[in-house]
This record gives sequence, structure tokens and C-alpha cells, in this order.
Amino acid sequence: MQERITRAAQVICQSKRTLALTGAGISVESGIPDFRSRGGLWERFDPIEYATIEAFQADPKKVWQMLEEVSVLLDQARPNPAHTGLARLQEMGLLQAIITQNIDNLHQEGGASRVIEYHGNAKTLFCLGCNQRYNANEIEGQRPPKCDCGKILKPNVVFFGEPIPRKALQESYDLASNCGVLLVLGTSGEVAPANTIPQTAKMAGATVIEINVEPTVLTNYLTDIFLQGKASEVMTQLMEEVETMVAQG
Ligand code: NAD
Repeated sequence: MQERITRAAQVICQSKRTLALTGAGISVESGIPDFRSRGGLWERFDPIEYATIEAFQADPKKVWQMLEEVSVLLDQARPNPAHTGLARLQEMGLLQAIITQNIDNLHQEGGASRVIEYHGNAKTLFCLGCNQRYNANEIEGQRPPKCDCGKILKPNVVFFGEPIPRKALQESYDLASNCGVLLVLGTSGEVAPANTIPQTAKMAGATVIEINVEPTVLTNYLTDIFLQGKASEVMTQLMEEVETMVAQG
């Protein structure tokens, strides 16, 4: 493992075009379960039943039962060393941008400067009727939150069945097709179209470094360096190595 950490750190230190792609796994240690964790939120709220745009349109009150529990988790969550490690890489000029599938705002809270939110952010809400936008703190305490026009608000996140915001899609594609190193953290690689980003990067000639507690669909067919373990622990080791290499010039 140490040998692979060293190799990953070398690759990152030598590249000027490193990109990160993160998924729910990076925030598991911050207290937000991913879709695969056993015994958690998603066993009670099947994402197919609660996280599709059709479900929201048909019965927003029902979907808000799930969203309220998610909101509590998001409010309590704090960035972990994997979030702050990526932010530090950005600060050191060794990471161009972070594309995240997460809606939890933890990269920004951890100090990251350039974050592309592929699936939106739960801190803002909007009305499907009149398009009015709200910050989450403006409608605090309302259950479920309603627009001035009376309709139930939807968080500004991409539900299954909704398109990816055009700007995030384009920017992610442009970065992936020009990157030299892609650092993939805590994603199963099973949710489309975010799972096309590693392939785009690979086709551009990028070295793919993957951090995950277990192998994924990406591991065998496009990952070059697989660092198995919890995101926060692996990132802590990786950052120690990077800091040492940078200090030694
Ligand atoms: P996923 O749930 O499909 O997969 C999570 C991956 O993270 C798995 O491969 C798992 O092995 C790995 N993992 C779990 N704990 C880890 C840890 N401590 N360290 C490293 N890896 C770990 O997640 P996904 O691929 O991001 O796709 C699911 C979708 O769910 C995404 O679209 C995302 O928007 C959404 N989601 C977001 C959040 C959030 O914002 N925090 C939480 C749940 C789901």
C-alpha cells in the first residue's frame, strides 16, 4: 500500500492538470450514508421511490419525509480529512478542480475553491411552479417548505430522471478531456452520466487514481492506482507524502 501511495503522490506532484471526482463515499465518515451503506437511511427510503423527479411531482409531501431526514444529516455533517486534503491540494496548486456528485456542500466547507456540483446543492431550494429561489436558511422551520405562491419547494438537487445542469456538464467534460490525472474518491461509478467522467479522462490519457473501501466497476478496467481504504485515512497518508515531496522540491 505504501508503495502505491508514494506512486500516487509522485504522479500528482508531477502533473499540472489533476482533477478530482468525488461521490457519496467521501462523506460517509462525515456522517452522511452513501446509497450502499447497510442499515441506513436508504434502506428505509428506496432512492427509486423517493429520489426520482416523478416521485416528487406526484407526492412532494411524501418525498419531504425523506428530505427532512437528509437535511438533519447535512446540518450535522462536517468536512473530514478527505475533504480538507483535496482543498489543501487546490491551495498548493496541485488540483485544478473537484467535480462532486454530492449535494452536501462539504468540499466548500472544507476550504475548496473550485467545486463543480454535478448534482446541485441542497442549500438552495426552488419552486417548480414559478421558479422562485430560496436559501435554505430563509425557509428554516417550515415543514415542508413552501414558496410564496403556495407550492411545495424542491431542493436544488438533481433527482433521478432530471438532467445535469448544463454548465456543470460542459465544464466537467472540458476538464476531464484535458486532464493528466484523475483522482476518483468514494464513488461506485454506477450513477450515469457522472460515471462517464473517468472514461473521458482515461481516453485523454489521464492516470486514474481511485480511493475506495472496495473495488468498483472502474477498478479493473480503467484504474491505474487503486488505494483501498477509507477516504479520510488514505487521503491523510497521501497528503503526508505529497507535502514531503513538495517540501523536498
Ligand atoms: P454510491 O452510494 O453509489 O457509492 C458510494 C461509494 O463509496 C461505494 O463505492 C463505496 O464502496 C464507497 N465508500 C463508502 N464509504 C467509503 C469511505 N469511507 N471511503 C471511501 N469510499 C467509501 O455513491 P455515488 O457513486 O456518489 O452515487 C450515488 C449518488 O447518490 C450520487 O449521485 C450522489 O449525488 C448521491 N448521494 C449523495 C450524498 C451526499 O451528498 N453526501 C449521499 C448519498 C447519495
